[in-house]
Formats: sequence, structure tokens, C-alpha cells
Amino acid sequence: MYDVIIVGGGPAGLAAALTLGRSRRRTLVLDAGEGRNAPAAAVHNFLTRDGTPPAELRRLAHRELAAYPGVELRHAAAADVTRTGDGAFTVAQADGGTAGARRLLLATGVVDELPDVPGLAPLWGRSALHCPYCHGFEVSGRRVAVLGAGPGHVRLALHLLHFTADVALLTGAAPLAAGHRDLLAAHGVAVRAEPVARLEGDGGRLERIRFEGGAPLARDAVFVGGTPRERSGLPEKLGCAPLPDTLTEVDEFGRTSVAGVYAAGDMAHRATLPTPVAAVAAAAAAGTVAGAALDQDLLSEEYGLPGPFPRPAAAPAG
Ligand SMILES: Cc1cc2nc3c(=O)[nH]c(=O)nc-3n(C[C@H](O)[C@H](O)[C@H](O)COP(=O)(O)OP(=O)(O)OC[C@H]3O[C@@H](n4cnc5c(N)ncnc54)[C@H](O)[C@@H]3O)c2cc1C
Repeated sequence: MYDVIIVGGGPAGLAAALTLGRSRRRTLVLDAGEGRNAPAAAVHNFLTRDGTPPAELRRLAHRELAAYPGVELRHAAAADVTRTGDGAFTVAQADGGTAGARRLLLATGVVDELPDVPGLAPLWGRSALHCPYCHGFEVSGRRVAVLGAGPGHVRLALHLLHFTADVALLTGAAPLAAGHRDLLAAHGVAVRAEPVARLEGDGGRLERIRFEGGAPLARDAVFVGGTPRERSGLPEKLGCAPLPDTLTEVDEFGRTSVAGVYAAGDMAHRATLPTPVAAVAAAAAAGTVAGAALDQDLLSEEYGLPGPFPRPAAAPAG
């Protein structure tokens, strides 16, 4: 029986494993090995590791965790999880293995639902990008486009002017809000209103955007808003309260609505906050906090002490 099983070995799960390993907790990390940023060439905006390839970051984390005898890493997907009579958990792996633990941390990340644009998938993470904090600096001086017509897309197009003067907004048939067309024109953002037919590129590098009418547009990168979605189905199986965006509700310590089940990283956030800025540093920080909270939770159980982080009393009904 492990103290904690962590499902997901990305930055959130591995940071939690470090905290738990250093606390001499028997910890199993089950990881299917498909991190959200895997298509990207490098992780940016992570202090001391800026520019490190995602796979290298994981390799370094695995090497550090190897120093802690309580931590075991298994390359396996968790397919199911059940609660046993004594309040513990049994996790069934897709490869037929099982493991039991007193507590569970879900850190499975998200899957990005991409808009249905032909040619987008092979460019995702390389030159079809989603986040100016991850990739903006790297497109400095390049020819970029933003796909979409909403207020967030207009804002992103203006934001990208900090990196390059050559920004185009691809609105398709969707209308721009009043005032936005003039705002964009005043700052030199071109608007293309023909629907996008496909993105063309080679080896992950965008070359041009073809439209359903009109001349193609040569571009080096396009910013596209993917929609992050819950990916494992495990929170629902456990009965964890979901948020409207499909992610899992947690408190500031990573506790879900189900006793003994914690969640951290891109897959979870507090109900009072919007879908958070997804970043490696933020996921690792959430994993660190959840790891400490899990350790304290186990400590309380072992010595019959009240938890150091009492949950606020539920508001009276009515
Ligand atoms: C294209 C792209 C580029 C990005 N670039 C950057 C960047 O430069 N800098 C930055 O700060 N952020 C970047 N991000 C965001 C960053 O990837 C995420 O914020 C971060 O990876 C979240 O960490 P996580 O641990 O929550 O999830 P993930 O890193 O997605 O890790 C989750 C892990 O859980 C595993 N898993 C899922 N289901 C199961 C299961 N059932 N059983 C076992 N394992 C499971 C997955 O295989 C995966 O290994 C980028 C995102 C994208 C989409």
C-alpha cells in the first residue's frame, strides 16, 4: 500500500512526487507520458530551464526523483480507480497492473480541443501556437496571424504588436465587435475576413494560409485558441465536483470535493478563478502545494490530530 498514488507525471505530478519523496512518503507516479506541451520544441518562461525541450525537463525531473527511495515511477496509464471499504483507493492500470494507496493525487493535465482547420494539427506547438508567454518572444520580428474574431483574439493581436509589427487577424465570416475594426486599423493590424481554407507548411513550420477566396497570406506563425478539456474521466468516476469548463474544482491546497482525492496542474482550479494561465511553473507550484497538503493530511490521520487546513464551514442552506 502506497501513501499516495499520483496519476500523471507532468510538472504538477512530478513536483508533488518530489515533495512527498522528500517527506519519506511511499509514492507511486503512474504516467502515460503524453504531456500537453510535448509537440513544442522547448519550454519557455520557466526560470532556470528556459528553452529546455519538454522531454529533457522530464528526464531531469526523473533523475532528481531517483534520489528519493520512496518514489516509484511507472510508465502506465490509470484506467480506473475505486474506493475500498477502508477509505483507501485501488487504481487499475490499462496494462492490467493494480496499486493501492491511502490518498490520490490527480495530475493528468488536459487535452486541447483544436478548431477544425485543415493543416492545423501537424503545426500545433511548433508554429501554430496558443500562448504569448510561452512563444511570443520567439516570433519577434516574424509574420504572425491570430485566428478568431472575439474580444480575446483582438486583444491577442494587439498584444503581439509587442513582438512584431506584422500581425494579421483572421476573422473569417465572424463579425468584429463595434470599435474593434478601427482599433486594429489604427495600430496597423491587418484583418482578413475570408474563411480560412487551410494552413500549409512543412516540418512543423507554417508557410502560408489559404483562404476560400482571395490571395494566400505568407506567415511564420499563427496563434490559435485551443479549448482545454478534462482528459482522463477519473474525476467523474470518483465523483469530484466539475467546473463549467470541464476541469476539476479544488481549493487552495489542491483538495477536490471528495475526501482523500487531490488534483493539481492544468486539470484543476478554484471555482472563483477563471481557467488559469496554464504554465509549467504554475503546474509545478500547484503540485508542490498539493504534495505538502497530502503529507499534512496523512500526518493528521497518523497522530489523530486535526488537519492544519480546516475546510471552511458550508454556508447555511437557504
Ligand atoms: C503546445 C504547447 C506548448 C506549451 N509551452 C509552454 C511553455 O513554453 N511554457 C510553459 O510554462 N507552459 C507551456 N505550455 C503549458 C504547459 O504544457 C502546461 O501548463 C503543463 O504541461 C501542465 O502540467 P501538468 O502536469 O498539469 O500536465 P501535463 O504536462 O499535460 O502532464 C500530464 C501527464 O499526465 C499523464 N496522464 C494523463 N492521463 C493519464 C492517466 N489516465 N494515467 C496516467 N497518466 C496520465 C499524461 O500522459 C501527462 O504525462 C504549453 C502548452 C502547449 C499546449
